[in-house]
Amino acid sequence: MTYQLICGAEIHVELKTKSKMFCGCKNDPFHAPKPNIYTCPVCLGLPGGLPVPNKQAVEDTILLGLALHCEIPEFSHFDRKHYFYPDLPKGYQISQKDEPLCQGGYVDTSYGRVRLNHIHLEEDAAKMHHATVDGKQVSLIDYNRSSVALVEIVTEPDIKSPEQAKEFLKNVRDIIRSLGISDCDMEKGSMRLEANISLAPTPSRSVLVGLPNYKVEVKNINSFRYFANALTTEYARHAEILDRGETPVQETRGYRSDTGTTASQRIKEDAADYRYFPDPDIPPLVISRDWVEQIRSRLPELPSAKLDSLIASGIAESAAKIIVGNQVMMDYLDQVKNIDPKLVGQAAKDLVNKKVDYQKVSPEEYLKSLQAKSEDKITDDSVLKPIIEKILADNPTVVADYKAGKQNALGFFVGAVMKATAGKADPGIVNKLLRDTLI
Ligand code: ZN
Ligand code: MN
Repeated sequence: MTYQLICGAEIHVELKTKSKMFCGCKNDPFHAPKPNIYTCPVCLGLPGGLPVPNKQAVEDTILLGLALHCEIPEFSHFDRKHYFYPDLPKGYQISQKDEPLCQGGYVDTSYGRVRLNHIHLEEDAAKMHHATVDGKQVSLIDYNRSSVALVEIVTEPDIKSPEQAKEFLKNVRDIIRSLGISDCDMEKGSMRLEANISLAPTPSRSVLVGLPNYKVEVKNINSFRYFANALTTEYARHAEILDRGETPVQETRGYRSDTGTTASQRIKEDAADYRYFPDPDIPPLVISRDWVEQIRSRLPELPSAKLDSLIASGIAESAAKIIVGNQVMMDYLDQVKNIDPKLVGQAAKDLVNKKVDYQKVSPEEYLKSLQAKSEDKITDDSVLKPIIEKILADNPTVVADYKAGKQNALGFFVGAVMKATAGKADPGIVNKLLRDTLI
């Protein structure tokens, strides 16, 4: 029996807002000098703390929705999602279920379109640290991250292969970075991935009888490569179970990067287990069409359009792809373009070939050095002629050799001129002048 992989993705992204999602505490958990300093009664879940939604976070989520072709409904509200874990002080997470900020949408890949179910806004949990203190295994909790604004992108089960998954995830990351709303740093955890995986017997019975009757959720994936690996390893595991005539258990598994395998964590909750209900402390949001248009005007040129325009400006596709995937290079090139559009092609080449260290050399300095190099070249006949004449006068025997037909004597003179000018003479012009003079 052969099977078709069926995968949906859930992508969590921490927004770079100044303050947290529902309070005024600073949102900077990665650079905090100490744990538990950016906290208040609201993000510590103390009784009486009242949440107030962060307007910037709402706008950033809508901006992302517009970039990913979502519909932005006129009403939206926050729900409480209940579960018990030490990193969640209130005993529930403020999230969105029935009326998220963005509905539908899609991301195109060269393997086909991946439709989105929706994008919603929620709050992050605190961070757990498992450590040994005084010889005892303990779990420490840092609430600096508690209630940081978190966007969740939920796709339809349209991902059909590990290759498509990688391209899809990369496109999403590049778009989010180009919007400037998150760093999407997977090592730090500001972008986190989950895969929902099942297998349908082929040929494509899923089209005829609906999706498979089970799905397995894989968490703890912190790179695009691991995501693709998780799909490959789960495919093999499910296929073996299905071949035996059994159905894989519907559960949550954790990806282990050391072994490249997954291990069971817990049986998956149903939505009912979370006891979702509208958060009575937060009034519903009314999203006026004027507001949406105002946000839409913030949309920058998206990576796919940037790629097209880079290629159109004469940059090789391979180089253009590298640049579009790197926001710092992209900004650098934009600055070069503002100063001297003619040099964008040269700058793109130098950036990709690491001829310029864009972390250290500013675009202005880089352009100055390009100019200096071209100004440095001695191309002026009136400067070169006297130098050539002196060299010829100093070497009458070589001149005689050349005149007697020894062509390689010319190389001797070119070398001598280059030496006399510390390599700055333009060799083409020197060659021509030498030939003219030696006739
Ligand atoms: Zn707070
Ligand atoms: Mn979530």
